[in-house]
Amino acid sequence: MSEIKTGGCLCGAVRYELNADPVTNMICSCKNCQRTSGSALSTIALVPKSALSVTGELKGYEYKGDTGGTLEINFCPNCGSPVLLKISAMPDVVSIKVGSFDNTDWYKPGVSIFEDSAQKWMPELPECMSFPKNPG
Ligand SMILES: [Zn+2]
Ligand SMILES: [Zn+2]
Repeated sequence: MSEIKTGGCLCGAVRYELNADPVTNMICSCKNCQRTSGSALSTIALVPKSALSVTGELKGYEYKGDTGGTLEINFCPNCGSPVLLKISAMPDVVSIKVGSFDNTDWYKPGVSIFEDSAQKWMPELPECMSFPKNPG
């Protein structure tokens, strides 16, 4: 049985509870993720949508991904923290921005995508399955 994981945005207006283990833990170095996170990459936990309950208001912004699909970044309109990423091609799962979890001790990325656009200083991640773009 998986333990319940909790998280939320910086100001606390948005909170969530996850009642399942992530399907995939990954990092994405695409330029969109660098912009939306303001960071070198995005840390993502793909989880079953049905296992996630969110309280508080998230604002969505839709954009085209580097491989043509539509994505929607969901952030807190009050403090701007990115919390969720919705992928239109995968309606049953939702991506949680891992930095928003209260506790990230369990997190370890197993997949790394869009390494072609990774920042130059990024070290090799030997235990990660790496892809130059999006594998699928
Ligand atoms: Zn907030
Ligand atoms: Zn990305």
